[in-house]
Amino acid sequence: MQVDIITLFPSMFKGFLEESIIKRAQDKGILRVNLHNLRQFTHNRHKTVDDLPFGGGGGMVIKPEPLFEAVENIVGGRVKSTPHIILLSPQGTSLNQEKIKELASKDNLLLICGHYEGVDERVKEHLIDEEISIGDYVLTGGELAAMVLIDAVTRIIPGVLGSENSVREDSFYDILLDYPQYTRPAIFRGWKVPEVLLSGNHQKINYWRKRKKIEVTLKKRPDLLKKVKLKQEDKQKQD
Ligand code: SAM
Repeated sequence: MQVDIITLFPSMFKGFLEESIIKRAQDKGILRVNLHNLRQFTHNRHKTVDDLPFGGGGGMVIKPEPLFEAVENIVGGRVKSTPHIILLSPQGTSLNQEKIKELASKDNLLLICGHYEGVDERVKEHLIDEEISIGDYVLTGGELAAMVLIDAVTRIIPGVLGSENSVREDSFYDILLDYPQYTRPAIFRGWKVPEVLLSGNHQKINYWRKRKKIEVTLKKRPDLLKKVKLKQEDKQKQD
C-alpha cells in the first residue's frame, strides 16, 4: 500500500515511521509512505498556507489553493491507481475496525492533515473522497489522527504481523472483544493463571476463550453484543 500524507509538520511522523511494526512493513515493501509538506505548494515569500476566516471569528483557516495544488501534483504523477483521498477531521465518519478493513483493501491512500481552525470548506466539497474522525474530541492537527489510521490499517495487511491469527483474534475482528491473555509466571503474587490454559487441551482452551470473549464483551461493551445479534438476524434472513 502507498500512503501519501499532506501535512504542515512532516517531522511529527519521524518516530512513528522509524520504529517497530510500521518500520518493518516499510522494510518488507508492504507499506510506502510519502510525506508532502504543504508549504512546498505555496507561491509567496512567506510560504503562507492560511488566512483569516471570512465573516470574522478567531483562528486561521487553511487556504484551498495549496491543498488543491498539492493533491493535483501528487495524483498527476500517478499512472495507474488514483488514491482514495481522506481529510482527517473531527466532523468525519468515526473510525472503527470495519472502516479500517475497508481502507486496508485499497492500494493508495492520500491523507490530508488539517490544522488551525481547519480547512476551507471547498476542500471538503470538491477535493476529497471522505472525512474521517478518530473520535469525538478535537486535536490541534490531523497528524496524530493520520498516524492512528495508518497504524491500524497497516497491521491488518497480510504479511505485516508475524501471525495472521493474531489479527483474527483481536478485539472487533468478529465484533467481540478479545479474551484475557496471560503469560509466565503461572502464579504471580499468589494470583493464578486459569487452570484450563495450562491443561494443554486445545479444545477446552478454545471453548474457554470463546466463552470469555462473550463474558468480557458483556461486561465492558454490551452495545457490541447487540451488533452480533443484528448480524445473526441478517444472516438468518439471507439463508
Ligand atoms: N474547527 C474544527 C472543528 O471544530 O470541526 C476543528 C479544527 S482542529 C483544531 C484542526 C485539525 O485537526 C482538523 O482540521 C483536523 O485535520 C484535525 N483533527 C482535529 N480533531 C480531529 C479528530 N477527532 N479526528 C481527526 N482529525 C482531527
